[in-house]
Amino acid sequence: MPVSDFQPVIGLEVHAQLLTQSKIFCGCSTAFGAEPNRNTCPVCLGMPGVLPVLNQRVVEFAVRTGLALECTVKKTSVWSRKNYFYPDLPKGYQITQYDQPICEHGRLVIDTPQGEKVIRVRRIHMEEDAGKNVHDTSGGQSLVDLNRAGVPLLEIVSEPDLRDADEAVEYLKTLRDVLVYLGVNDGNLEEGSFRCDANVSVMPKGSSTYGQRCELKNLNSFRFLKQAIEYEISRQVDVIESGGKVDQETRLWDVNKGVTRSMRSKEEAHDYRYFPEPDLPPLHVSDAAIDAAAKALPELPRAKLTRFTSQYGLPAYDARILTAERPLADFFEACAAHYADAKKLSNWFLGELMRLLKEEGTPLSALRFTPAQLAELLGAVDKGTVSANAGKDVLGEMFRTGKAPADIIAEKGLAQVSDTGAIEAVVDDILAKNAGEVEKYRAGKKQVFGFFVGQVMRAMKGKGNPALVNELLKKKLGD
Ligand code: ADP
Ligand code: MG
Ligand code: ZN
Repeated sequence: MPVSDFQPVIGLEVHAQLLTQSKIFCGCSTAFGAEPNRNTCPVCLGMPGVLPVLNQRVVEFAVRTGLALECTVKKTSVWSRKNYFYPDLPKGYQITQYDQPICEHGRLVIDTPQGEKVIRVRRIHMEEDAGKNVHDTSGGQSLVDLNRAGVPLLEIVSEPDLRDADEAVEYLKTLRDVLVYLGVNDGNLEEGSFRCDANVSVMPKGSSTYGQRCELKNLNSFRFLKQAIEYEISRQVDVIESGGKVDQETRLWDVNKGVTRSMRSKEEAHDYRYFPEPDLPPLHVSDAAIDAAAKALPELPRAKLTRFTSQYGLPAYDARILTAERPLADFFEACAAHYADAKKLSNWFLGELMRLLKEEGTPLSALRFTPAQLAELLGAVDKGTVSANAGKDVLGEMFRTGKAPADIIAEKGLAQVSDTGAIEAVVDDILAKNAGEVEKYRAGKKQVFGFFVGQVMRAMKGKGNPALVNELLKKKLGD
């Protein structure tokens, strides 16, 4: 059977670092990039005799996320110890949640080529991150940095509802956008503050029994997620086709070779010996706290996208890009309050503005001009005060200097010439100098028209109002 006779089944486990100031069970800073082992204390160093104290913000963030993903938020959940030995885990166990997580049974709607699809969220739980082992240093040693030990994480586990690599990527992007909107995570895959493991299996099409799954690790970009899943699907199909059986194992994505390779088999899997955490009582979340969190939820990306299409009459394509990040969406709305043609505004956003932001690496928060000034520039283009092309230069200058559009237009002499007399003089001059071409035109060679427009525009250094130039040329040529 070819690959197309098999149905892939995929479920994702996502770890998201929470944007709290301090760690989950102690007051140490979560700031990234500090000198190794600076952000540590007896609690996160795993000293004997110390006790964890739960950071209330972590619970707030978990509840907020659970509500956004339409989960049931449990009024009682339980902390557990997950025991294993590794140098980056000083206590010898991780405090996590196991059989009684804080959130269950949620859903996330994603877009697929076949339309909207609901991906069920099985559970969300809170846990602490481990430290980091730093290998291959110049002295050939391995070092341990415990700054990350005790940083709060949410683990978000999907049901195996995804059916190909593209759906998995779409789910991960959609989830990331939600978490960033909520202000609970920075969404950075490359730096590892938003991480994903993919569980992949295949079964013959039409079957309702899932195949044996493998868990893929080391997927720190959307591209790697897609490549690793696609590789793994064809690998599993090959195994089955050649009469073998897929072993349940953990496999690592090898970026350089573009393959997944076995890291540990089921036999080598850890026995974590989970048991309830004796140092923390069960966690209770009140109805009042859940209600307050629900009321404070921001408008989420999907709802905003729908509203952008209805309220502003924008195509879904535009709305999706404009709402992918909250600051961009907010800035668009602030501009739209000053400028009525939302589609034109969107064109400037999707074209010039986003190009400038990307090229200069400027965050929106550092933008030097106001929404009213952008609206003023677009108004000037509409009125023909500047050409659309010159308008782009004006925007670039506003971007770099924060000067008002009118000042830039004046200073740089970018104002478009709409004075009929001035244009007429240039048109007459060009036609007089090119009598031969005029003959050809009048004899029926209409393509020469573009040549005349080009000559007039060049003589006017690009500042002639194009509509007027066209009109006057036609008139003079006797059209
Ligand atoms: P564990 O507790 O061992 O981590 P779970 O049953 O909780 O395993 O599943 C972990 C992840 O694997 C979930 O995201 C789930 O959707 C996914 N998953 C479970 N079974 C399969 C399967 N047969 N094929 C693909 N993914 C699966
Ligand atoms: Mg798991
Ligand atoms: Zn600490």
